[in-house]
Amino acid sequence: MTGRRIRAPFAKDAPGRDMHTFIADLYPLCRSITGNGLRETLRRIQTHIPLTIHEVPSGTHVFDWTVPREWNIRDGWVKNAQGEKVIDFSASNLHVVNYSVPVHKKVSLPELREHLFTIPEFPDWIPYRTAYYHESWGFCLSHNRLRSLKDEEYEVYIDATLEQGRLSYGEYYLQGMSDEEILISCHTCHPSLCNDNLSGVALATFLAKHLRTLSGPRYSYRFLFMPGTIGAITWLCLNEPQIERIRHGLVVACVGDSGPFTYKKSRRGNAEIDRAATHVLAHSGREYKIVDFSPYGYDERQFCSPGFNLPVGSLTRTPYGRFPEYHTSADNLDLVRPEALSDSFAVYLSLLEVLEENNTYVNTTPKCEPNLGSRGLYGDTTGEKERLSLLWVLNQSDGTPSLLDIAEKADLDFSLISAAADALSSKGLLRERKPERTEIALASAGSTDGNTNPAPCKNCEVLE
Ligand code: ZN
Repeated sequence: MTGRRIRAPFAKDAPGRDMHTFIADLYPLCRSITGNGLRETLRRIQTHIPLTIHEVPSGTHVFDWTVPREWNIRDGWVKNAQGEKVIDFSASNLHVVNYSVPVHKKVSLPELREHLFTIPEFPDWIPYRTAYYHESWGFCLSHNRLRSLKDEEYEVYIDATLEQGRLSYGEYYLQGMSDEEILISCHTCHPSLCNDNLSGVALATFLAKHLRTLSGPRYSYRFLFMPGTIGAITWLCLNEPQIERIRHGLVVACVGDSGPFTYKKSRRGNAEIDRAATHVLAHSGREYKIVDFSPYGYDERQFCSPGFNLPVGSLTRTPYGRFPEYHTSADNLDLVRPEALSDSFAVYLSLLEVLEENNTYVNTTPKCEPNLGSRGLYGDTTGEKERLSLLWVLNQSDGTPSLLDIAEKADLDFSLISAAADALSSKGLLRERKPERTEIALASAGSTDGNTNPAPCKNCEVLE
């Protein structure tokens, strides 16, 4: 597969519209780190790609953590003395603190206020709060609504269950020519919030959907749709033997807002994925920022923990916590834009293109420059950058630098360097030097789908 084939089929904003429609479909579900909202989200992803849903029992020990009890909620409200609902889960699932234990009692306003959360700086917005690992209950509401509450008795009701169950996560494996893997991971645990992270869920889903239409990618791809933190810890614990196959990885989040891109490097800081992302953004003509790894953020924290130290970075638009709507009801369907989703999709494809095409070549006629004009490669219509790309690739290809190394040295866009390598190879002037570590998958030529995970996890139940 050439990189040009990775990018080609999409019209400029078609995937963004489809992704936005998918986000709108998932938006009303009350997701959490466990439970039926998460499960239903995974089922809806299955309408696009043949995702395998894994179910890990509560109580399973995963490194230093334990898979929690499963939380499900049916209803929740607060009624005033007149019996009117002043806070109502059915109006927004953000109104109930995620993982609240069940409650049904009458309380005074001062007692109620101890369980209420607002954002005074944005008095119309409802905050998103969780209580995963300590038993409590609470409600989130706009500060304006809080101010309207009279000093009277209130009835609080949360119809939820917290009991032995399962943690669900989704996995989609796409076999490529090599068993070496590119990992694409996103968190699926937030309720009605769009940029963080239904945008990431949609982008990962549509990326998988696109890649499976192509034949013969160089790498195998593993897509993970998991609850944040505990999901990644669980997956890493249950899949440790196969982690060495991961060559590159990306954590996808916050890709639907209109802000500039941010790439957060892996803990290694100079992994191929870090260099490829930096190169793609630098040559993309878009505004961007590259930041070093820090042990806070999304699941790159787990993938880059020192015991794994995987080459996994995170490509977002505005990062977590840096947009005012973050973790509030204003992270809604208006904040994520189809054109921004399309643009993010295009940048992800460009990045994958670099990884797929980053081969190393040997110049077959290394003594002086070969005559390119006689081979039709160097004519009057050849652009200056194309000419330079041909010369750089010929000069540097002694079997050591990769095309990305050459693109960086020449300060030319990778796609030009890759196209030059293709043209020179087609005339026999270059031959590829195969990387020693690549194992060619014997089982199949070309790509195969999903449920052929080469090392299925044996510690959890698999729902097809
Ligand atoms: Zn979040």
